Amino acid sequence: MAKKFHQPTRMCVSCRTKEPQSNLFRLQCLNGELTAFDGIGRSFYLCQSCLSDNKKLFRVLMRQCRSSQKDKLMNKLKEIIADDRKS
Ligand SMILES: [Zn+2]
Repeated sequence: MAKKFHQPTRMCVSCRTKEPQSNLFRLQCLNGELTAFDGIGRSFYLCQSCLSDNKKLFRVLMRQCRSSQKDKLMNKLKEIIADDRKS
């Protein structure tokens, strides 16, 4: 009998829900700037429901990036999500 391949689970930094990695959106902050994860360094995950909740989002982004530039963070996040959907 074939065993189902075990998917790694990761935790959303906002609501702390554990989800399969593929259901979460992976982000990273470099020097206070939000970026798409490039494979190096510290990253964090957000689930789909937190991604659609702006209030939760900027609190998390400000904490993760240690930045208070809410608009900048939110604009960057939208860019990253748009790029991700294109590819
Ligand atoms: Zn979440």
